[in-house]
Amino acid sequence: MHGIRTRANAQSPRYSLVLPIYNEEEVLPRLVERISLLVGQLDAEAEVIFVDDGSHDGSVKYLRRMVAAEPSFRLIELSRNFGHQIAITAGMEAAAGEAIIVMDADLQDPPEVVLDLVAKWKEGFEIVYARRTRREGESWFKRMSASLFYRVLEKMTPVEIPRDVGDFRLVGRKALETFKRMPEHDRFVRGMFGWMGFKQAAVSFERPARTLGETKYPFWKMVHLAVHGIISFSEKPLRLALWAGLVVSALAVLFGAYAIFAWLFEAGVLAGWTSTVVVVSLLCGINLFMTGVVGLYVGSIHAEVKRRPLYVVDRLNGFDRSVRVASS
Ligand code: UDP
Ligand code: MG
Repeated sequence: MHGIRTRANAQSPRYSLVLPIYNEEEVLPRLVERISLLVGQLDAEAEVIFVDDGSHDGSVKYLRRMVAAEPSFRLIELSRNFGHQIAITAGMEAAAGEAIIVMDADLQDPPEVVLDLVAKWKEGFEIVYARRTRREGESWFKRMSASLFYRVLEKMTPVEIPRDVGDFRLVGRKALETFKRMPEHDRFVRGMFGWMGFKQAAVSFERPARTLGETKYPFWKMVHLAVHGIISFSEKPLRLALWAGLVVSALAVLFGAYAIFAWLFEAGVLAGWTSTVVVVSLLCGINLFMTGVVGLYVGSIHAEVKRRPLYVVDRLNGFDRSVRVASS
């Protein structure tokens, strides 16, 4: 993925707001109003980047009009629906600000909270995420499944991915430049920011219900996000086959020994039973075990293919001094 713009320069705004839009025509008028209010409250210039993720309602038309009228508004129109995670990536890559704020367009991420995010950023935190303390108006099922997902993910990955945090966050320039160097296609954005380190902080807020329009995250999209979150940040499912294979193989050996013992010393063992049982259980165990081994290799290819940078530099000290290199 290539940045649409490169680094911030002297004329760039201080803040970039990134808002993914997918069929949000009912919310847009209210959103634009609230966002304009917020921009007025910020202590420096801000740009607002709307990313249209292939909407097929009137969203684009409305946004084009807004952008024509308001010099700080920008609009990226994606060629089709790429999904929320890619849409926010496109917006962030185009951002010129020093602090980039990503938020949902449906006002479930209240614009006022951005002021708190900014305050924390000024204290020196590179990444400030907004944590949902309460979720209003979301179904019991959505709350339960989300909470279960965060807990399972936490157990499965060494990467610190904060709980109950969506994609509502502020990231500084350094974090953004790092993000741009992560070209992985399976994008679980909140995990990627967890992975990169830096000083991170949280700001709590109560998540209100969606009052306009309806959720663009049906059940299957949530499952997709959850599966990709686990796959791209954990190799445990692959190792599971390895361990299962080992356990089954060990049991097969024991059981085989018993079957042979029975064949030798016990009366009334069916002809052919021993060999069948020994062969089947051993092969099953070996099979599972080999699947696990293949899994390990696939896992490492998987990690490699992602081409994540190997490390991230936060700051360099003393490198600006010139050092005479001994010539050979
Ligand atoms: N969204 C998007 N592409 C999609 C689905 C959603 O850009 O394929 C946007 C949507 O317009 C909204 C944000 O992502 O701004 C979050 O979606 P939604 O509010 O429907 O999710 P929920 O809050 O129900 O989890
Ligand atoms: Mg929402």
